[in-house]
Amino acid sequence: MADSTFWGPDFQALEQQDPEIAKVLLDELDRQRTGLQLIASENLTSPAVLAAFGSVLSNKYAEGYPGRRYYGGCEVVDRAEELAISRAKHLFGAEHANVQPHSGASANLAAYAAFTKPGDKVLALSLAQGGHLTHGSPVNFSGQWFEPIHYTVKRDSEYIDYDEVRSLALEHRPRMIIAGATAYPRLVDFAAFRQISDEINAILMVDAAHFIGLVAGKAIPSPVPYADVVCFTTHKVLRGPRGGMILSRAEHAKEIDKAVFPKMQGGPLMNAVAAKAVVLKECTTTAYQDYASQVIKNAQALASELDKQGLRPVSGGTDTHLILLDLQGIGVTGKEAERRCDLAKITLNKNSIPYDPQPPMVSSGVRVGTPSITTQGMRESQMTEVASLILRTIKETEDSKFTQIAAEVNALVAQYPAYPRA
Ligand SMILES: *Cc1c(COP(=O)(O)O)cnc(C)c1O
Repeated sequence: MADSTFWGPDFQALEQQDPEIAKVLLDELDRQRTGLQLIASENLTSPAVLAAFGSVLSNKYAEGYPGRRYYGGCEVVDRAEELAISRAKHLFGAEHANVQPHSGASANLAAYAAFTKPGDKVLALSLAQGGHLTHGSPVNFSGQWFEPIHYTVKRDSEYIDYDEVRSLALEHRPRMIIAGATAYPRLVDFAAFRQISDEINAILMVDAAHFIGLVAGKAIPSPVPYADVVCFTTHKVLRGPRGGMILSRAEHAKEIDKAVFPKMQGGPLMNAVAAKAVVLKECTTTAYQDYASQVIKNAQALASELDKQGLRPVSGGTDTHLILLDLQGIGVTGKEAERRCDLAKITLNKNSIPYDPQPPMVSSGVRVGTPSITTQGMRESQMTEVASLILRTIKETEDSKFTQIAAEVNALVAQYPAYPRA
């Protein structure tokens, strides 16, 4: 049931003034609470982050950087950005941090703007095998203004083919190499990428959007010692507000800052900057480190349970928070699986798998992740039930059966509520 007491008195004012939008907020809270949230790139951020994000800091124009603004009255918001920057540098052991990018795509655009010129070659993971639109898709600026070259994963192991990365790098001599992806369940060998980048004097950009939260929680190795620049989102496993961030070596600090502003963005979202500072403080707690390692334990338990029950995880499993499932063995497309899961209140997404015979809008896989359900408090012992709910739903051919599964989903998540009621 919708619950307007989640918000304070401001919400009652919104309800009076704009009941239609108030209802959207209530219904979305309800949707997040009653379904099984398995989108690998989503999480349930804390009330503290939400408080900073929905604050009067949104009102302030602060083009520029702390102490060097183009507007008056920035002395208060400067404190938020200084805290965010120093917390980011400290948490990740980075020499420089820019906390202004509005999103992951904006952070990536800034990295291109800092290090490349239109027409330059950029080497990245193939989009069909887990890369991101900003890694050279023909429908994105990165594919239109640059010359993308794509490496792949091996057909047998479905791990990145580092020999191919090296041979493509030596053949094409790209200006920048991108490591990191949206649908790659394994750890990335940053040292190998560094070595290859050094051989051809290329910039190494790690797009850590998906896994930076696991790095923040010290659950997997960090790309920071290896990369020239690390770009990421703050709203995925990291569990902060929707936004982006860039870490770099000190030698690139000026170029990165100029690329974010004024080359690419105008005024920063100071409410988002403050909310990023809030999550960066949360990340230093042992509770957060426990969370990050539990996310991986849950993903591994879920992958092995699904595997046991007949759904093959791409690459045989996962080292991270995400699992890519190959549905070819059970003869269901990713598109149909996503539709069935929607009806059963299991929220996940269709996803191409390596060497997928289906077009991306149909695909042969689904991607699932454990960030949200781990935030809700589920542990390995719940993964058996989550796995069987997923499997029953994907195999179910009668639409009339999904109401029953949705009721079971609701009963499970009611024990691990998102945003528990006071
Ligand atoms: C999510 C993601 C992005 C884009 O982030 P947005 O905030 O949606 O712009 C970029 N790169 C990778 C690898 C991602 O996973």
